Amino acid sequence: MVDAIAAAQVLSEIGYLLRQQEKERFRAKAFSAASWALAVQRPDLDELARTGALTSIEGVGEGIARVLNDLIGTGQSRYLNRLREQMNQPALADETQLDFADYRGDIHSHTDWSDGRATMLQMAEGARAMGYGYVGITDHSPRITVVHGLNAERLVAQSREMAEVQEQVDGVALLQGIEVDILEDGALDLPDGVLEILDVVIASPHVKLRQEPAAMTERMLRAVSNPHVDVIGHPTGRRPGAREGATYDFEAVFKEAARNGVALEIDCDPARLDLSPEMARMARDLGCDFVLDSDAHAPAEFAYVPMAMWIARRAGIPKERIRNFRPDWS
Ligand SMILES: [Zn+2]
Ligand SMILES: [Zn+2]
Repeated sequence: MVDAIAAAQVLSEIGYLLRQQEKERFRAKAFSAASWALAVQRPDLDELARTGALTSIEGVGEGIARVLNDLIGTGQSRYLNRLREQMNQPALADETQLDFADYRGDIHSHTDWSDGRATMLQMAEGARAMGYGYVGITDHSPRITVVHGLNAERLVAQSREMAEVQEQVDGVALLQGIEVDILEDGALDLPDGVLEILDVVIASPHVKLRQEPAAMTERMLRAVSNPHVDVIGHPTGRRPGAREGATYDFEAVFKEAARNGVALEIDCDPARLDLSPEMARMARDLGCDFVLDSDAHAPAEFAYVPMAMWIARRAGIPKERIRNFRPDWS
């Protein structure tokens, strides 16, 4: 028996590995899309396999159905194993076991207050539908002008809306946060007095990712030293198959993050998957804590976390080091 979430993770990893091969971009997207359909709809795979109806799942054609059949029949995907070998992926010896059922809440999501495509109420209902105990609403800071980032006044207005939404949606605690930009010199895009009253501060690099490594290292060190920062969002800014991430002294920055209790994010958006399994493993060895987040811009995107949990498993991160597995994430 293979549950839909386990299967979604297999398809997601295949999509990720294919994405790094020039000629396979199209197929990579198909695997990622099918993975998402499985994670959102959670179909009964055994039943569909028995009745030959796997292709009734959105985005599942003959090729992906064959991979699923193999997985359902043997508990393994020979296709994935072959890809892992071809692409020299690290040994499976110290993978950890992580169960999505233990995941308590997602702390990185966007609403139409910045570039999200849904209202706060819709996002809160989406988080509740996932069974979460909490969700972080972390819209962008002002520097990201194209998305109408939030300054102090708009954050105050947003907190009023949050109180109203919280009344309508029980069972899931809404956390007010920000995804604050790490500026070129490592300063943050909002004053300390604003950051300190928020429940969640995710500091992310979005612009000038091609800064030369020494300057980028200084920039990131300054960000992880800010006492209001809880998390570094998508720490390299990479987009697998499309854009290399920033290069800096990862060891120095991750060590400092560990020392300051700043967690590193594994952003589960299939277009990001940042940190990679290899980088996350290195951060694990340096003592870092992690958060696994969807960076959802619409309710269905909350399913990115169950799809991408394989990254943390492949990185060998134990459950205790992943803050979303805690009843109170911080
Ligand atoms: Zn971001
Ligand atoms: Zn984001």
